[in-house]
Amino acid sequence: MYATNYHRASSVQDAVRMRSAADESKYLAGGMTLIATMKQRLAAPSDLVDLRHIPSLRGISVDGTSVRIGAATTHYDVASSTELKAACPAICDLAHGIGDPHVRHMGTIGGSVANNDPAADYPAALLALDAVIVTNTREIKAGDFFTGLFETALQDAEMIVAVTFDAPAKAAYAKFRNPASRYAMTGVFVARRDNGDVRVSVTGAGADGVFRHPGMEAALSANWSPDSLAGVSVDPSDLMSDIHASAEYRANLVKVMAKRAVAAA
Ligand SMILES: Cc1cc2nc3c(=O)[nH]c(=O)nc-3n(C[C@H](O)[C@H](O)[C@H](O)COP(=O)(O)OP(=O)(O)OC[C@H]3O[C@@H](n4cnc5c(N)ncnc54)[C@H](O)[C@@H]3O)c2cc1C
Repeated sequence: MYATNYHRASSVQDAVRMRSAADESKYLAGGMTLIATMKQRLAAPSDLVDLRHIPSLRGISVDGTSVRIGAATTHYDVASSTELKAACPAICDLAHGIGDPHVRHMGTIGGSVANNDPAADYPAALLALDAVIVTNTREIKAGDFFTGLFETALQDAEMIVAVTFDAPAKAAYAKFRNPASRYAMTGVFVARRDNGDVRVSVTGAGADGVFRHPGMEAALSANWSPDSLAGVSVDPSDLMSDIHASAEYRANLVKVMAKRAVAAA
């Protein structure tokens, strides 16, 4: 690794000030992605601003169907929250399926969302839940936040402080894991609201990152059952091909995972 200055922030304002003071600085949350990237010399920040000791960034609050998850809340805390399980069990199940116990105890929802890995799980959930990403300066709808592979609407030094959403009547996530990394080779999150509005979003498969599937949403709005997806086509030309799977294979996985998610919801 290169020499790096470490800063421990105790408040959001403190962290933003520290981050803005150095040109090549970065926020550090769980370090599950950032530290590995630094070890591989793919990133060399001059300064790291640690967010893990800011009390306001941690924790989950549920008020009826209204959910708020602090950015530095770990995947383990999301997976094991009884309050959240009662309001939206699908997001707890999703968090429980991230990586391994070490990753779940260290990694955070804010770090995952800011990183926007095309195979990460949370982006699919936040898009399907019509979530809002709350930063230190503004609120960004998930639909405007994820802008491409590892790209988001975050400005330099802008910090995610929380994620909020209104829990839907039904939701579930189905993921086909990469057996080595446990990231999603394809993951589909489905959510249905009381008014019949349905959202289906897909991670791990899109050539440009997480995306919604309007064809599946229309079919499920008309008939909320796995069988209603039988006639929906998934276009492989929009999907990713890599050493793990071809676009055609992923197109099939999108349909299979969507059916499983609807059945589970
Ligand atoms: C072995 C392994 C398996 C994994 N498997 C999965 C998996 O199955 N599914 C999955 O979704 N993920 C998986 N991950 C990734 C994991 O979920 C990480 O937790 C996540 O990518 C990054 O979160 P972090 O808190 O560790 O962030 P960090 O690594 O600390 O930071 C990541 C990036 O986000 C920025 N950042 C962090 N917090 C904020 C914030 N609040 N505001 C703005 N920017 C911020 C940092 O500056 C950095 O650029 C895996 C990781 C590993 C190592």
